[in-house]
Amino acid sequence: MLVEGAILDRDGPRPAGVRIRAGRVVEVGQRGTLRPHPDERRVRGIVVPAPVNAHTHLGDAVSVREPPAGPVEDLVAAPHGYKFRLLAAATPAAKVKAIRAALRRMEAEGIEATVDFREEGEAGVRLLRHAAQGSPVRVVILGRPLRRPIDPAELRALLAVADGVGLSSARDESAVARRAVARACRAAGKRFALHASEAVREPPESFLDPRPDLLVHLARATAADLAAVAEARVPVAVCPRSNALFQRQPDLATMERVGIALLLGTDNAMFHAPSIWRELEFAYIATRLRGRPVSAGYLARAALVEPYRWLGNPAGASIAVGAPCRPLVLLLPPDDPEYQVVTRATEHLIVRPARPKSPSEAP
Ligand SMILES: [Zn+2]
Repeated sequence: MLVEGAILDRDGPRPAGVRIRAGRVVEVGQRGTLRPHPDERRVRGIVVPAPVNAHTHLGDAVSVREPPAGPVEDLVAAPHGYKFRLLAAATPAAKVKAIRAALRRMEAEGIEATVDFREEGEAGVRLLRHAAQGSPVRVVILGRPLRRPIDPAELRALLAVADGVGLSSARDESAVARRAVARACRAAGKRFALHASEAVREPPESFLDPRPDLLVHLARATAADLAAVAEARVPVAVCPRSNALFQRQPDLATMERVGIALLLGTDNAMFHAPSIWRELEFAYIATRLRGRPVSAGYLARAALVEPYRWLGNPAGASIAVGAPCRPLVLLLPPDDPEYQVVTRATEHLIVRPARPKSPSEAP
């Protein structure tokens, strides 16, 4: 396939021609300079790294009815909130089926990976691993130990199957529990993450100590809190649609100004389809509704570039020959790529260049 148009990747937007074969970039040149091969498909569009959804709770995809109104704490609080009662009532088979449907949708939308906060302890992690088998979407699972005080044996068993731990929040967990979890994650070479300042403001010293690998939300954080997070160099995943349901909004303009490494997530699958494209458009518009606009470029990086650094594969966000990236082609006008990708992309405009089924089929 020959794409004439633009590249938008970790080096920013630029006009380009890109040849893709077997799902890999094989040639990059100035726009209009690559010679078309006979029988080669030619399209006009923008080539981007496959986006990453940096925060989901795919387990709650089992909920398919409109959730009741009420404060988010009542809806998603463990162990008796609406969400946890639904999870407890659903059979494992029903949860697996719902998670697979969500992953198929993410696949159709070109998603490379998702970072999931999986509740329900070790069993919850195993259920998601099982559901994700065979999906081309990489699922990074941050599990949650159930027992308090923290039971080292339970935590060890959890970390043996999970990619790390995703805690509810510093407000919900004692400093002793957070330290025990963070220490165990470090020792196992795994990730420690938590929600922070979602429904109410929490002081940064609570969620930055012990230092997490990822914070989620910061919808109630002040500008000074955000500066402290930027200073601590902790990446932040924001979920603007989820926050908006409960009359909140992360201050993306300040996050951009203070230089926070931003990622983007779609949060609870009971509230939102796990569509990063919808999240991008909403984030862009919502900051304008509030009169505090964020740049399209900052949002594009949050979906396409920063998560690859977080995953330990920064070159995955590079559209270049030999880079370990999986390019997506968006059939959009290539003149202002960041704006187009953030405000116009939908699954109908995505061309996912076919990958060979096995190495022997590669050219
Ligand atoms: Zn969450």
